[in-house]
Formats: sequence, structure tokens, C-alpha cells
Amino acid sequence: MGTLALFGGKPVRDSFLPYGHHWLDEDDMQQVVQTLKSPVITQGSVVEQFEEAVADYTGARYAVAFSSGTAALHGACHAAGLENGDELLTSANTFAASANCALYVGAQPVFADIDPRTYNIDPGGIENRLSERTRAIVPVDFSGQPADLDPIMKLAEKHELVVIEDAAHALGALYRGRKVGTLADMTMFSFHPVKLVTTGEGGMIVTDHREWYEKLKSFRTHGVSKEPSRMGRYEGPWYYEMNDLGYNYRMTDFQAALGVSQIKKIDRFLYLRNQWAQLYQQAFSGIDGIIPPYQPDDIRSGWHLYVIRLELEKLKTGRKEIFEALRAENIGVHVHYLPVYWHPYYEKLGYRRGLCPQAEAYYQTAITLPLFPKMTKSDVETVVEAVKKVVRFFRK
Ligand SMILES: *Cc1c(COP(=O)(O)O)cnc(C)c1O
Repeated sequence: MGTLALFGGKPVRDSFLPYGHHWLDEDDMQQVVQTLKSPVITQGSVVEQFEEAVADYTGARYAVAFSSGTAALHGACHAAGLENGDELLTSANTFAASANCALYVGAQPVFADIDPRTYNIDPGGIENRLSERTRAIVPVDFSGQPADLDPIMKLAEKHELVVIEDAAHALGALYRGRKVGTLADMTMFSFHPVKLVTTGEGGMIVTDHREWYEKLKSFRTHGVSKEPSRMGRYEGPWYYEMNDLGYNYRMTDFQAALGVSQIKKIDRFLYLRNQWAQLYQQAFSGIDGIIPPYQPDDIRSGWHLYVIRLELEKLKTGRKEIFEALRAENIGVHVHYLPVYWHPYYEKLGYRRGLCPQAEAYYQTAITLPLFPKMTKSDVETVVEAVKKVVRFFRK
């Protein structure tokens, strides 16, 4: 083992390996170009094609595409009827958008702690955080591993809550043999380039409920209706009317064209992600100083992220130096996530540290390693080598 690159040694890799990356082929780009050459580049028929493809793939009845996953979550909160003063419960260990969607509609995010094994919301910690104002739960399928939806749906039924699953990481994942997209009341997917398939920016809600579907579609397009059956009056062929306050949250047709092409490849992407993750699992099991991710038997992860935890009591340094040492080896490590309420914006809203001790402890020790389908076996091997080199160096 050579000197750490952090201290001037030769890095394990010559080039930087990011933690996530999209995979676009020539045929994906051809689909986009073809749509760009067609008469209509937005509000045409390709968005519907993409929605149908995602509904088909997940087994959900309806799908509504949005300009981003964040916009989709906003739409879902609107459709669920969240208003000023309501509360929405979500995981502390997530991207801020899972909670921000509550703020967009005047509701208040409430954070629940995570299960220290799965890093997903702990169903046992939900009930004591519910109040008379709670209207929705947003479980997050962290890293691609579905949240424990059965007990969550049961709680939701008992307390009449809407469950909006944040499946930004989990397109194609399975929970007890069932596909993500058929488990919750509404399910959100994101098509940001680091996610499982991409449209550049983009998101989607899938649901089996007609009423929410209609609301989502209207919300995405200014709250405007052109359907005669939904209009209060009819003034002529030019006529449309706005009945609700909506937004312009539409996806363009050329983005949807990319989506249609990408979703055909999802199973291959998932296969490769799983293959690289299993190589990591083998390499890191039994290594003192790190804890590889736990995989319950009854799920299939989308493997959006591969997160190791450091056993700091066995190491001579903290997460920051180990992170920097891995970056110096040209490994594009990352950290997911700062507990949402630790963000300064949330601190200013009055959220205090200590709310979710497991999520806070998790955050101090977590490091995300590179994982994306287009990496190669030798990329995986360099990551393994670098992690071993750094951990060995800093082990007590
Ligand atoms: C990416 C992501 C989002 C937001 O999706 P965008 O398409 O980037 O707006 C929401 N929640 C989680 C957990 C995410 O990872």
C-alpha cells in the first residue's frame, strides 16, 4: 500500500470517478432530435407516451409527468389537499425537497427518525409524531431501498392520511414482491441525471386514483381546463378557463422523448447497478472500520446510492478526513444526507438539533461511494482499493 494521495502519494485512480452519472446512447439522442424536428416540441403527444410507459412499467393506473421531481411532490401535496396549518411527516434522512413540498402549500414538515439498519423512516417512530393536523406521510426510499410501506400504509389508513412515496431513488425497486409505484397512494419519481433514468430534469407522480390524477394534470398546467365537461360555461371554440391556481410545471416533449428511450433500458441499468453493488458488498463485508449497507431479504433495491458507514470508534480520524482522503484518490465520494432540519433555512424556522438522533448519528458516519451502471468492473475495483487503502491507514 502506497502513501495516501492526501499526503502526496500516487492516487489509486488517474481520473475522477463521480458518485453518479447518466447513461445516454446514440439512440437516446436520436429520439430527442427526432422530436425536436417534429412540429411540436412541447404539449405534444410524447409526454403522454412517456407517462404510459412509466405507468406500464410500474403497474400504476395513472401517471403525470412534471418538470422535476420537486414539482411533482408539490403537485402531490396539492392533490392530497394539504393546506395552511396541516402537517406532513417525512424522513429526516432525505433531500430537502421531500419536506419543502409541505412548505410550498403552507403546511409544516414534521421529521421522523430512521431505522439505524436501513436508514429509511422507522415506522415505529411515526405514530407518536402524528397530530390532529397531520394529513400526509412522505416515506423516502433511501438509496433505492423501499421504505417499510406495509406498516406505514396501515398507520395511514388508521389515521386517514395520504401516503406520498418519494421514490426518486427507487424506480424499478421491489417491496415484498410488489413494484414501487403500486404501494402508496401516490408515488414520485425523479429523472435528474444521477437518478435511475433521466430526462435531464423531470419527475412523475403515479397513482391509481382518478381524482388525484385529474388534480395533478390541472395543477401542472396553470389550473386550466379545456375539457367541456369540466368547464362552468362555454363561450366559444377559443374558450378555456382557469378554475384552480396551478403552475407551469410541464415537461417538454423532447425531454419525454429521452424518457421513452431511457425507460426501455431500466432493467439493464438496474441489473448493472445491482452487479456493482454486490461486488462492493463482497469486498466490504468483514472489513473492520466500515459497515456496508444492510439489505433485507424481502426487497430489491434500485441501488441509486451505495452508502457505507464508518465505525468511528475503530478509526483514528473522523469522516471528514476519510472523505478528503478518498477524494484525493480520485474517488468521487459524496454524503447523503444532512438531516433536513439541520439546513439553515429549517433552523431559522425553529427546528432544533436532537429531533432525530438516529438520522443525526447516521449523518456523521455516512459516505456515498460511486455507483452507476456505466462504471466498469475495474472502476469498482479502484473504489474498493482506495477504501481499503484509506481505512487501513486510519484504523487504530
Ligand atoms: C432527486 C430527489 C428529489 C427531487 O427530484 P428533482 O427531480 O431533482 O426535483 C426528491 N427527493 C429525493 C429523495 C431525491 O433524491
